Amino acid sequence: MSYEGPTQLYVDGEWTDAASGETSETVDPATEEVYATVASAGPEDVDAAVAAADAAAARDSEWRRMGPSERGEKLRAFADALEEMKDEITLVESHDNGKTPFEAGIDVGMVIDTFRYYAGWTDKITGSTIPVDGPRLNYTRREPLGVTAHISPWNYPFQLAGRSLAPALAAGNTVVLKPSSVTPLSALYYGKAAEEAGFPDGVLNVIPGPGSSAGGHLASHGDVEHVAFTGSTEIGKKVMEEASDTVTGVTLELGGKGPHLVFPDADLEATAKGVRNGIFMNCGQMCWAGSRLVVHEDVHDELVDALVSMVEDYPLGSGIDDDGRMGPAVSASHQQDVLDYIEQGKQEGATVAVGGGEPDDKDVGYFIEPTIFTGVTNDMTIAREEIFGPVLSVIEVEDEQEALEVANDSPYGLMSGIWTNDIKRGHRVAENLEYGMVSINEYPVTFPQTPFGGYKESGYGREQGEQAIEEYTQVKNVNVNLY
Ligand code: NAD
Repeated sequence: MSYEGPTQLYVDGEWTDAASGETSETVDPATEEVYATVASAGPEDVDAAVAAADAAAARDSEWRRMGPSERGEKLRAFADALEEMKDEITLVESHDNGKTPFEAGIDVGMVIDTFRYYAGWTDKITGSTIPVDGPRLNYTRREPLGVTAHISPWNYPFQLAGRSLAPALAAGNTVVLKPSSVTPLSALYYGKAAEEAGFPDGVLNVIPGPGSSAGGHLASHGDVEHVAFTGSTEIGKKVMEEASDTVTGVTLELGGKGPHLVFPDADLEATAKGVRNGIFMNCGQMCWAGSRLVVHEDVHDELVDALVSMVEDYPLGSGIDDDGRMGPAVSASHQQDVLDYIEQGKQEGATVAVGGGEPDDKDVGYFIEPTIFTGVTNDMTIAREEIFGPVLSVIEVEDEQEALEVANDSPYGLMSGIWTNDIKRGHRVAENLEYGMVSINEYPVTFPQTPFGGYKESGYGREQGEQAIEEYTQVKNVNVNLY
């Protein structure tokens, strides 16, 4: 099916070509065919989008003067507009990224929920009164930052952009979104929703373009007050540097190497399902993937057997015209990176329990077999580095202490899972895990209401929940002498 959605940049309420006239092609990873040709923003377009957002954030602007109830109504209208386009966005996301429509539909639904959740926050962003000595009134106000930049990755293109746009807008900021140039299409629908919802011009701008030029220029722009970056740890470090010149705040949502800690008292059927979803959903291209299975020796064989039988005949396909349950990798180069990791796992002495390469029955599409390695030690490359593909590394341990040591021995600290029916053990292990998110007997899971983010090199700051409102506001303290 050919693409019929928006292909231009959305700047200051207008659809426009890039100033340079540049475009870039996006490829459907299931067919390897060009799916769409999209305007590609350069530095001039970044300047135009930031200028529009800056004007829309000015103190006397319509957006800044809008009451919180009306701003909440605008966000609800925005969510309604997305809901109207839900089927179309879902299919576009599926073609652009390779994820199945079932998976893409979950992402779009999560964004709609997120906008509705933050629509309820607009009139609840309060300050406090502070008791100080003397005849004084002392209070704080939480104020918007101004222009916030949002740089998003290709693995959840629609969802990860929406999760940071919603709180930024709810807090009264204006936004410039630069989606990944690999998967730029679904983000353009945010422009359409802004038109439908009647956002003032310049409040929301979308400029697909390359990371190094458009992304770098945006992150270092003097009129940007905050950068919300989701992507790799390597680029996250660069973004922090880029933003530092103008002392601009950052939220960094970076990579992960999530462990599942499985104890002998766990419900193994539920565990197997959770572990499977946590690594084979989205073709394993998930920051929060549970890519290390740290399992007690007493239940190792039974759990591995259950997982192998679940995925040995896993239907691979786009899910659009077939019964595909796991889509392809996003691009040929990413497929190759994952296959290289699989080869490295074999060379370092891990055993392939299932999968281990490209499927034999797929001539077209960047597919990878769901792969499980057993006999992995935590010093192997496949246990240390984020593969970002459907590859599970199984590490056998003797007891709780060893499980914790292995789980915490990682440069990353995003999401972790615990599988046990012992309530004391569950909370004890949760307390001792060095991860920003811990889920007991369920994986992977998150909600618009709960903070999402990582310890260590998995990031800085938090998206979602009340915490994101704090990220996208600044505190002003006011002191009044009453005499
Ligand atoms: P990436 O870091 O290559 O790119 C992310 C974004 O940054 C893209 O829009 C890209 O164009 C842009 N970019 C590239 N160079 C830049 C620069 N110098 N300055 C500013 N922007 C620049 O990441 P990716 O390959 O698109 O996504 C995969 C990575 O994202 C994985 O590491 C994954 O773990 C991580 N991720 C993290 C989360 C989270 O919430 N923690 C969620 C999803 C993905």
